[in-house]
Amino acid sequence: MKLKDLGYNAFFASNRKTLGLDAYLVARVIAEHKEAYIVKNTTNEYLAKITGRQMFNALSRADYPAVGDWVAITELDCERAVIGGILPRKTMLKRKYSNETKTQVIAANIDVTFAVESVDRDYNLNRLERCLAIAKDGNIKPAIVLNKIDLISQEGLSCKITQLKNRFKRIGIIPTSTVTDKGLDELNSYIKKGKTYCFLGSSGVGKSSLINNLLGTDNIKTNAISEHTGRGKHTTSGRGMYFLKNGGILIDNPGMREIGMVDTKLGVKKVFNEISSLAKKCKFGDCTHINEPGCAVLDAIKRNKLDENKYSNYLKLKKEVDFYKMTKLEKRRKDRKFGQFVKKTLEQQKKYKI
Ligand code: GDP
Ligand code: ZN
Repeated sequence: MKLKDLGYNAFFASNRKTLGLDAYLVARVIAEHKEAYIVKNTTNEYLAKITGRQMFNALSRADYPAVGDWVAITELDCERAVIGGILPRKTMLKRKYSNETKTQVIAANIDVTFAVESVDRDYNLNRLERCLAIAKDGNIKPAIVLNKIDLISQEGLSCKITQLKNRFKRIGIIPTSTVTDKGLDELNSYIKKGKTYCFLGSSGVGKSSLINNLLGTDNIKTNAISEHTGRGKHTTSGRGMYFLKNGGILIDNPGMREIGMVDTKLGVKKVFNEISSLAKKCKFGDCTHINEPGCAVLDAIKRNKLDENKYSNYLKLKKEVDFYKMTKLEKRRKDRKFGQFVKKTLEQQKKYKI
């Protein structure tokens, strides 16, 4: 594997040079661990952590690395490394918090975003538009995948395609069906070697089915990134980067999948207020309102006092927010531990003049 097979190109090379980072190794962040990052270059996969705040500041990148980032690393041994800085990003997939002004980088350096919509009863052009807006916002080229075309007639499909072409001018449309395999070759040939892709769209539109098809496996989770750390594979599954049969690179994680898919029309704020006031009556203080006994929210749904669509919208948004809150907190806590580990390793290296 060459660096360019991992997505490295002239853009990153020239920035690396400009920033005087030629002396460092570079690697790509392929997974975000709860405790660290997995970074990969042509020879190794490392468990890596950030240190060297000064270097970070020098690069004026206060941000944490994200999957897809190119980072400058210092090797500690063949399995561990320290991330010294992030190379400037070509594109960014960003998440905006609904109640805050700050944004969070979910993935970096994606070349093409596939905005997936299905033609069945969930067909929703506003949602597709939000998806495309997120891509545009991050400077990522979009393409539309119209899935489940086995569920409508040829005329029905033509009508939808015309509608899409009128509304979203100059954006490629790939009609697919993972049931009849129609359009899957076209999707496959759309994907180029060494380029990075992601799939966005609401749950149920067929993203996993499409991705599994591209991966050539039955379960995306079975394709989890291998680790040297001895920790279970499941810890990184669905949290990173996948290498496709045709040389394309795919970034996928649960937080990314639902990004922007929360239907704001359903009045998120109002629903949150409604749910948090109900939640005061839940039996358990830490009730997640999913399956707990004595849950006032579930009870309200049962009594038709709370709209089920609004509730599921709430759960989606909560999932998205929780995912990032957790990792951020965890990162901060684990940063310290890793710092100690690095310090010790370096001390030992000095002591034994390794
Ligand atoms: P995701 O939530 O976007 O990852 O969607 P999944 O891939 O899990 O698919 C959701 C459901 O739609 C599953 O029951 C799939 O079997 C079904 N599905 C996926 N692709 C197609 C398709 O092309 N046609 C039909 N009829 N069903 C599909
Ligand atoms: Zn509850």
